[in-house]
Amino acid sequence: MAPERLQEFNTIVKDSSKVDVLFGYCYPSTYRAGMTGLVLHILYGILNSRADTSCERYFRYDTKSPALSVESQRPLRENHVLGFSLTYEEDIINLVQMLDFGGVPVLAEERTENDPLVVVGGPVVTANPEPFVDFVDSFVIGEGDLVINELVDAVATGPSRREVLARFSEISGFYVPAIPKTSVKRNIILDLDSLDYPLSQIVPDVAEGSQFDPVFGKSFLLEVTRGCGHSCRFCLIGHVCQPRRTRSLSKLKELVQNGIGNTPVSKVSMIGSSLGDLDGLEELVCWTGNQGLGVSVPSLRADSVTEPLLNCLVKSGQRTLTIAPETGSTDLRRHIGKGLSDTDIESAVEMAARCGYNSLKLYFIIGLPGETDDDITATVDMIVKLAKTSGMKVTASVNPFIPKAQTRWEREPQPSIGEIRRRLKIVERGVKKDSRVTVESLDPRSARIQAALSIGDRSLGKVIRAAARYGGYGGWRRAEKETGISFLDLASDTERLQEDLPWSYLRN
Ligand code: SF4
Repeated sequence: MAPERLQEFNTIVKDSSKVDVLFGYCYPSTYRAGMTGLVLHILYGILNSRADTSCERYFRYDTKSPALSVESQRPLRENHVLGFSLTYEEDIINLVQMLDFGGVPVLAEERTENDPLVVVGGPVVTANPEPFVDFVDSFVIGEGDLVINELVDAVATGPSRREVLARFSEISGFYVPAIPKTSVKRNIILDLDSLDYPLSQIVPDVAEGSQFDPVFGKSFLLEVTRGCGHSCRFCLIGHVCQPRRTRSLSKLKELVQNGIGNTPVSKVSMIGSSLGDLDGLEELVCWTGNQGLGVSVPSLRADSVTEPLLNCLVKSGQRTLTIAPETGSTDLRRHIGKGLSDTDIESAVEMAARCGYNSLKLYFIIGLPGETDDDITATVDMIVKLAKTSGMKVTASVNPFIPKAQTRWEREPQPSIGEIRRRLKIVERGVKKDSRVTVESLDPRSARIQAALSIGDRSLGKVIRAAARYGGYGGWRRAEKETGISFLDLASDTERLQEDLPWSYLRN
């Protein structure tokens, strides 16, 4: 049960009668998940630094109501703009439900001058906005912090909804479905050092482990890199966030010093893909630890792990090494473009054990194009071997392959739910005897839904709308029957995947 009022540090409440633009930042999932995302803190900081704008937050779950802001209980529909971040495809259901609960017409074509503009960004729509066009007035393709001020300027000075949307469509990276374009360019910022950075980040005043505690715990989020220098064939980030960019070491240290002065926490969570590729990560981690701060880093590439880095991370409180071999098969790993050898992986794990780590989190994918049962057996062998040689507790997160738009495997089909389950069983049976190993997996039905939403076209709007009425997996099934659209088969429809792709107007 959510508390009446969530206590937080660094929230900003303005007198809404004294600003021109009311912006509702909406995260279509839990408070905890939304607060873990850096984009919330970035946009909140930029928007509230403007004298003419008040930004307040809305979450689908866990706060008093999805239709009332956390800050001042401002009704959702009173905002001029509702900005949603869509990080996971299935959250579109939550987005539609939030609009509905808030009294905002769910369909873009039914909104009038008195309704907020619904703007959606995030990696999901940057890859393929088409399944979501029915519900959205404008998409932001690429990095939203680059254009957020232009968005607000257009809203503050636009005489009408139609005029504001016309202005949006002229801004780089904006895609207004009502004003089609032949191509839309993805926004990226090349120089991260030049971006404004949120130093006063919102922190919930809650006990560790509470439902409101962010995923990395109460910490200062430090974005070290954007994008990734690798481009594994299946990986969305490796394709739609390219090129890889990093902040300079001096800038990162400055951000830590100033951020800790403004955000009441004693831990720094470093954010970025393939962080270990950063020259100076070791220096940054050790320097941060020497300031008396805890440090956490996300998944590291096994070939970038060094003993001094791990020693500093252990001293700073990290005890779990997270790496993503993706598959135990060397050939398949090469085929997906991962470029890690067995030796890289084994050496990283041995180093972690020597340095005092006590657990290991390993990410694998099953159902990859070209995968055989022998490849799955190789994954089992790798998990068992790493658990045995390291003596650590191992959590193997084994998730179904999901074809994503704009990746090199965007046209590859996903195996059926039954086949994914069969392959998953091979892994579960193979590791069952080792009590140190736990296997966790995304429900293959969710993977099916995610795949359809990743590669689908605008005909899916009808399915989404019906599924949002019913909720849950059963809701998708009912929606499929009601609309007559074979939504759940989409990801394995190989013929369809040979046709022109719905997102072909997006160019990088
Ligand atoms: S899987 Fe990891 S290393 Fe490969 S492209 Fe994605 S983020 Fe980069």
